[in-house]
Amino acid sequence: MRRFLVISPHPDDVDFSCAGTIAKLVKEGNQVEELIVSDGSKGSHAVGFGGKKLAGLRKKEQRNAGKVLGVADVSFLSETDGEVENTRNLRKKLVVFMRQRKPDVVMCPEPFLFRFDRAGILHRDHRNTGEAVFDAVYPAVGNASFFPELLKKNLKPHNVQEFWFWGSSKPQLIIDISKTIEQKIQALFCHKSQIRDMEALELRIKEWARTMGKKKHMRYAEAFRVLKLG
Ligand SMILES: [Zn+2]
Repeated sequence: MRRFLVISPHPDDVDFSCAGTIAKLVKEGNQVEELIVSDGSKGSHAVGFGGKKLAGLRKKEQRNAGKVLGVADVSFLSETDGEVENTRNLRKKLVVFMRQRKPDVVMCPEPFLFRFDRAGILHRDHRNTGEAVFDAVYPAVGNASFFPELLKKNLKPHNVQEFWFWGSSKPQLIIDISKTIEQKIQALFCHKSQIRDMEALELRIKEWARTMGKKKHMRYAEAFRVLKLG
């Protein structure tokens, strides 16, 4: 049994990128938790439909999606959507969370996404979340000299063993999600505020998962770049 922490820039990124893997990890007896960095309050182009109201709705949607996959807990940092920056303050929040939860593996966006060849995945919040999580894990979480005030709160250094980055152009870990693809679709369907056409979404997700599994002869897959630490 290993402890996995999935750190997602917005509500729904976690489900687009790794819901099939999460459901599989849970089935295999691992513990998976989710931490959502931003509040998702700008996740609509409709005038007057955003802000706190949308943020509250998206929290509920994310909790529902977490239930579909069997995650142990869903937490929120509630940074303002579109304004996630790799600041000392955000890194401290991440360090506090990781020292409390002590994950073995941290899953987050590939921090080296600076090719600007695609929209969507290259959202500023995704780039900044990947970078902030990387900086918080290495070396801050495991080094007592970072945020020494935390020691008084009994938040001792913790060593994360591995990163699994999603959205990487060089993934080496291809996970077969053929048995959990339907759970992934159901988790994505929980994000009602973000979906215009459910049928089109299902087709797009399956096509994407098929492409990732092709080389390994898997029906559906998700892909990660693994970085081992220490
Ligand atoms: Zn996002």
